[in-house]
Parts: sequence; structure tokens; C-alpha cells
Amino acid sequence: MIKVESLYKSFGDLEVLQNIDTTIEKGEVVAVIGPSGSGKSTLLRCLNLLETPTDGHIWVDGEDLTVPTTNILKVRQKIGMVFQHFHLFPHMKVIDNLTYAPMTVKELSKQEAEQQAKLLLSKVGLSDKEQAYPNSLSGGQKQRVAIARALAMEPELMLFDEPTSALDPEMVKEVLDVIKSLANTGMTMVVVTHEMGFAREVADRIIFMDYGKIVEEAKPTEFFASAKTERAKDFLDKVL
Ligand code: ADP
Ligand code: MG
Repeated sequence: MIKVESLYKSFGDLEVLQNIDTTIEKGEVVAVIGPSGSGKSTLLRCLNLLETPTDGHIWVDGEDLTVPTTNILKVRQKIGMVFQHFHLFPHMKVIDNLTYAPMTVKELSKQEAEQQAKLLLSKVGLSDKEQAYPNSLSGGQKQRVAIARALAMEPELMLFDEPTSALDPEMVKEVLDVIKSLANTGMTMVVVTHEMGFAREVADRIIFMDYGKIVEEAKPTEFFASAKTERAKDFLDKVL
């Protein structure tokens, strides 16, 4: 589904990603973990070209995102992204947050888009919030709306950047449960997270990053039981 080859990203003199190579299979759930500033968000943002790579290649579904002829908007339609801070449209009701892109980009009728939106809201447990505005929702509810909104575009790949980091502790589980159930449907997902329990339970593979590099890639059972590098062991000592 995704192949990343010799990916580099710099901001001025700061090299934030250095020689990233990885492959993500269809249906795979990959958790990206590592210290703050290690380049996790930048890697995720490169995958849908919210950041332009400095060098290297990224293929999504066989299409090289880094060649100028690629239709970025079309590629992005295959990719849903969920951010730490929700980024809902504040002036739109929940239901309109979900129908906006399907109606404007996919040209669904209002009726079709609303039917689909209602189904998605019931899947994330928010059928009763259809007519609410985002600012009346809790953080956990906002994030579940954000996930439903991303799913409304019927993406083939979902990217999550610390989806629970801005939430009060008691709301983390409701959001993780939604992400978990999505994983169980076979969705391909890349999740940047500090929730080690979740990574261990849900991910098929852990990518551990530090200083802009992938330091370790392993199955969760291996990674958490016996990380190979000192840097990963150090990190796990601090967070577990
Ligand atoms: P992480 O998500 O692992 O915390 P990031 O990918 O956000 O790390 O950031 C990696 C490094 O890149 C940090 O040093 C950060 O300050 C820097 N960085 C990220 N985005 C930008 C930007 N737009 N301009 C300049 N520096 C940036
Ligand atoms: Mg980040």
C-alpha cells in the first residue's frame, strides 16, 4: 500500500527525516513511536504531502507522490488524516462536518451524504450529536467526529497523529476503542501514539523513531519484550 524509499526532509538546515525506508502492507496497522521531535509527525505529513519531501520517494498504491505529474488531490482522497487537535469546522454542525467533503469533492447528493454520515456517527457512538456544534462537544466526542469525518471520504488509508494526546484521561479510551474497531475492519492505518498499551495490543508492527531515523521496526511482542537498541530501551524505560 505504501512504500517509502530514502526519504529525506529538511526545514532549512534542520534535517528532520534522514533516509527513511519502510513498507506498509494493505490492512496493516503500524504504530509510530519515539521521543518528541524525532520526526514522527513530519513522516506522517509527508505520506499525504502536507509536507514536501526534500528527497526520496513515496508510493501510495503504486503511485509515486514525489513526481510532479502526480495528482496530489486525487491521492489525498485515498488518505484520511486525524490530528491531535481535531480540526473540525467550528461553524458547521456535526453532520455538516461529515457531509461537506463528500458533497463538494465526491459530488454526493445531500441525501446520500447525510445517509452515510448518520451511519458513521452511529459507528462512533454519536448519533445523538448530529445537530450539535463542535464547541458543545467534549474532546473525546470531537475526536470521534473527526474520525467519522475522515471515514466519510472512504479512504483506503488512515493516518492518526497522536489522536488522544489532547484529551483528558477519561476520554482516551472511547477514542482508542473507535480506532481499535476500525483496525479490526482491515483498514490500513499508521498511528503516531504515546499510548504504549494501545500500540502493543492493536499494532501489527512498531516503528521506533529517534532523531529523524527509523531506529527499530519490530512486532509489538518483540519490541516491548526485548527492544534491540539502547535508544529504544531508554525510551521504553521512561514511558512504561
Ligand atoms: P514529532 O512529531 O516526533 O514530535 P516533528 O515531526 O513534529 O516531531 O518534528 C521534528 C523536528 O522538525 C522538530 O525539531 C521540529 O521542531 C521540526 N519541525 C517540524 N515542523 C517544522 C516546520 N514546519 N518548520 C521548521 N521545523 C519544523
Ligand atoms: Mg508530532
